[in-house]
Amino acid sequence: MAQPVIGLLGGGQLGRMLCEAAGPLGIQIAVLDAENCPAKQANHNDLHVTGSFKDPAKIKELAARCDFLTVEIEHVDTEILEEIATKGFEAQDANGKTIKKTIPVHPSWKTIRLIQDKYQQKEYFIQKGIPVAKQMAIQSDSDDARKASLQEAAVKFGLPFMLKGSKGSYDGRGNFKIRSPQDFEVAAKEMGNQPLYAEKWVPFEMELAVMVMRTEDDDGKLIKASPYPVVETIHEDSICTKVFFPPRKVSDDVKARAQKVACDVVSNLWGRGVFAVEMFLLKDGHILVNEVAPRPHNSGHYTIEAVPQMSQYKAQLCSILNTVPDDLALVPRVPSSLMVNILGGAQPTSHDRLVDLTRTMGSSSLDVYLHQYGKESKPGRKIGHITAVGYSSIQRLEQLSRPLITACDEIRA
Ligand code: ATP
Ligand code: MG
Ligand code: MG
Repeated sequence: MAQPVIGLLGGGQLGRMLCEAAGPLGIQIAVLDAENCPAKQANHNDLHVTGSFKDPAKIKELAARCDFLTVEIEHVDTEILEEIATKGFEAQDANGKTIKKTIPVHPSWKTIRLIQDKYQQKEYFIQKGIPVAKQMAIQSDSDDARKASLQEAAVKFGLPFMLKGSKGSYDGRGNFKIRSPQDFEVAAKEMGNQPLYAEKWVPFEMELAVMVMRTEDDDGKLIKASPYPVVETIHEDSICTKVFFPPRKVSDDVKARAQKVACDVVSNLWGRGVFAVEMFLLKDGHILVNEVAPRPHNSGHYTIEAVPQMSQYKAQLCSILNTVPDDLALVPRVPSSLMVNILGGAQPTSHDRLVDLTRTMGSSSLDVYLHQYGKESKPGRKIGHITAVGYSSIQRLEQLSRPLITACDEIRA
């Protein structure tokens, strides 16, 4: 039976890994992005569209040749996605004929629109009783209004606090730690004229993340929010560098609560797919939600090898197509795994040593898997990752993986 075609907005590494999962399943993915983007390098077909995933005309051109639309990035135009999913749109099909159609967009444009604005996202979570850090919108009508608003935040939250851009941020670009009133002006200059909000500083013990697969019927009714295991994420300079499964020295009670919070969050969103819920674990055991990504996520890369029966990429596809087995268990098939990001260093070759290590490492106690994204190296850019899976504890795996961790840290030094 011919499989439906899934249209994908964005063809970076997440799109590439989605295509890698789709190929063996016989699912065709039509990608909207630049000609030689990472996803198209891994998936050749006649359905791709060349252009920007921010261009409404191109999105319609893509939608015309697909049965579903999905995204690998949340920073997309949700007006056009709403139109495609609800009112319908006119477009040319592959034979040049004008057609009018609606197609499902997963996750829903409503979810993407909400999540795009990190301040609104958290206001919604507060409404739903989900624990988050205190926040306040920063006025930006004039320099004086902004300064007064930042002063108010400093009084309300104390120092330091985190100033964040509400929209368009990723990998910590859009975050500014305000340490003293002297930072107000520097921050205002650096952040420019975008909508901002202040967030109370969270002196977290650890950062945790849970991927959740969300299934829903054709009427938009939630079927299930199914959690993957909890992982520990390490961010350095606000960018994720490593992911440990299971988290080190975290009790079963905390793990269960993190999964519960993540499922509560995702149950309150709309549409099918996988979602990453980023959380802060406090010293007293409380959990706060940091933010949600409505798509496969860096913290879920480990599932390719650790949960091979349903990696986060396969889960994205199967939930969209509604082909998830009822009794599926998102249970890892290995006791531990460590994911290390390959970030571009000062030189285009800085990461070579880390990549070379993967060719010599591996034993009966650990397997090492290299993923390169086909992206040009730039300082701090995510250009690949390495997953080590262990056949004993995470502590033992960490010891065995020390050369990877050291090489990863040295690139950044
Ligand atoms: P992503 O690439 O995950 O989308 P982002 O640019 O949206 O990142 P955030 O997730 O808001 O940024 O923050 C990045 C990191 O900065 C967090 O993972 C955490 O390490 C740190 N951070 C964010 N907010 C706070 C806070 N309120 N208190 C302390 N640290 C914080
Ligand atoms: Mg983010
Ligand atoms: Mg984040």
